[in-house]
Amino acid sequence: VRRIGVMTSGGDSPGMNAAIRAVVRTCAYYHTECVGYYRGYQGMINGESVNMNARSVRNIINQGGTILQSARSKGFLTEEGRARAAENLKRDGVDAMILIGGDGTFRGGQVFSKEHGFPLIGVPGTIDNDIYGTNYAIGYDTALNTVVEAIDKIRDTASSHNRLFFVEVMGRDAGFIALNSGIGAGAEEILIPEENLGLERLLDSLERSRRAGKTSSIVVVSEGDKIGKNVFELADYVKKNLPNYDARVTVLGHIQRGGRPSCFDRVLASRLSVKAVELLLDGKKDLMVGMLNNEIVSCSLDQALKGKHNINKDLLRISEILST
Ligand code: ATP
Repeated sequence: VRRIGVMTSGGDSPGMNAAIRAVVRTCAYYHTECVGYYRGYQGMINGESVNMNARSVRNIINQGGTILQSARSKGFLTEEGRARAAENLKRDGVDAMILIGGDGTFRGGQVFSKEHGFPLIGVPGTIDNDIYGTNYAIGYDTALNTVVEAIDKIRDTASSHNRLFFVEVMGRDAGFIALNSGIGAGAEEILIPEENLGLERLLDSLERSRRAGKTSSIVVVSEGDKIGKNVFELADYVKKNLPNYDARVTVLGHIQRGGRPSCFDRVLASRLSVKAVELLLDGKKDLMVGMLNNEIVSCSLDQALKGKHNINKDLLRISEILST
């Protein structure tokens, strides 16, 4: 492998820049050329690339977002789109790729590798943390800290006004953000897609808290909660059934993706990306790097896509005990 391409794809996450930097600098360290593609697969299809060297990535380790930008590419879902991407890589003399993104990005990579034979390594970057083969994906830790800081602020106003706040956080299919930020911010209840606690239980729990003398409460709701109501309907339902509560809703939305990456995410991105380049130089392909029990490891992309990263359900028990 003499020339490695790198891109960021799917939803952006804080720490992607630290990953790009580490890929580029590791290539430089091993005297291997490096090419960046803009906007993920879309830039590969359009042939939008830039030669990168150690100096191209200065002052980015502390920046959120991704200097290579990201996209969701419809074109890459088609055979013609992928063929154009392969032609562009050949034209650029790129003989292996590093893909920084989530499971959709790896699924695209899997198809691309089968059709066109480019060796590739996936680096998990998504705030949702829903990737098998790694305890943590890049961006998740920063997102958690952002959410906890936001809930701390909401708590100030909740307790000044005797209010119940429903806070919706990201995680359509996975409750990692809700569960951990909920515990970190001391939420009363945490509603996640993996576990339907039911509306009755929610009402019981809120009523119990009120009787126990709590003057304000925070309920963290994952956007993909399966209780069958969106966060606004949930608040209306509670208002109707527990008239003592003044229920409000805050949807945190895209602030969760932004901001300066935490130190944890920078170190994680650096470690994963050094390993990704080293695997390619070692002749390995179609793997995803991950961190398990603080060791950098790898598994096949197939495994990463087939496996399911489960939440730690013990955290629900912890939350229940602590909201007494
Ligand atoms: P996040 O978890 O943050 O959403 P992601 O990587 O899962 O990130 P997606 O939008 O699902 O984000 O995937 C990124 C891109 O990968 C898609 O826009 C598409 O171009 C490509 N892709 C996804 N699935 C496939 C597939 N089956 N075949 C080809 N390309 C795919």
